[in-house]
Amino acid sequence: MCNPSLTNYFARPEDITRVPSRPTTATSGCCTYTYRRAGTFRSTGKIRQLRADGVTPNGQNDIPWTGTVVINSDCDKGTVTVSHNIKAVNKTADTTSYPDTVAVSDADLTAMLEKVPPAIERAWNSRRYKLKITDNRCGERLFDVIFVVRMSDSSPHYAINFVNVPGMGTSNDVAGITSGRSYILPPDRGKFNLGDSRSATDDGDECLEPHEFGHMIGLKDEYLDIPHDRGGVKYEFPDKTTETVAVNGELMGSMSNKKAEPIRYCVTIAYAAIALLEANGHAVTDCVIL
Ligand SMILES: [Zn+2]
Repeated sequence: MCNPSLTNYFARPEDITRVPSRPTTATSGCCTYTYRRAGTFRSTGKIRQLRADGVTPNGQNDIPWTGTVVINSDCDKGTVTVSHNIKAVNKTADTTSYPDTVAVSDADLTAMLEKVPPAIERAWNSRRYKLKITDNRCGERLFDVIFVVRMSDSSPHYAINFVNVPGMGTSNDVAGITSGRSYILPPDRGKFNLGDSRSATDDGDECLEPHEFGHMIGLKDEYLDIPHDRGGVKYEFPDKTTETVAVNGELMGSMSNKKAEPIRYCVTIAYAAIALLEANGHAVTDCVIL
């Protein structure tokens, strides 16, 4: 029988840094447990955004994010489930805050938003990320990573202001406050634009919400953004290997690829899973994203 743990914890980045140097003493075998954490996951400092030159760090690390992470081991198989409840706030009639927005009724908004969770889940589950984790109590085992997203006012992880600005709007300010830009304000708020042609809500393209979901698990933009001096990202993985990615066609880059494909997009989940295991007495010695 598994013994669910509801412990709240936080592993510091320096704890995670120790991971590869620990000896493995366990032999592989049956290990059964469920550990759960709901709340804010802080920055690991393992994702560093680069300046517009694509080389120099610009001082911004991965952003804090909110969610529920459950790691479950059923004998020798495991899952890491990442869940998000999104609360929709209808700001489509708030022309004081958003001058170009066009009103949408609550009923119509609810109908439109039914398309958002499936779009995010398609984008993030189609590849089926896996984590191969080795620890001193259970040895090596493979975990399927599953993303679950719901529109729900109950225990929301994110409260999102929904606006309806055609395109980017006429007041395309850099900060995106009055324009049609969508963004996440870490750790638990954001603004999404229904009028963006890339939104899943209008049966058209559907890369906007999956891209914003990347921010909802702490990832940074990889695209070139000269006004904000952004031009790529350097990732450090749990095994201490690194990858530098500057300006590309992936989901967190230009959004031309609608699915989360790169290994690196699962790195904040890997660190969350490691921290959850370590908080429950496992010493993690290796974690590889597959
Ligand atoms: Zn972005």
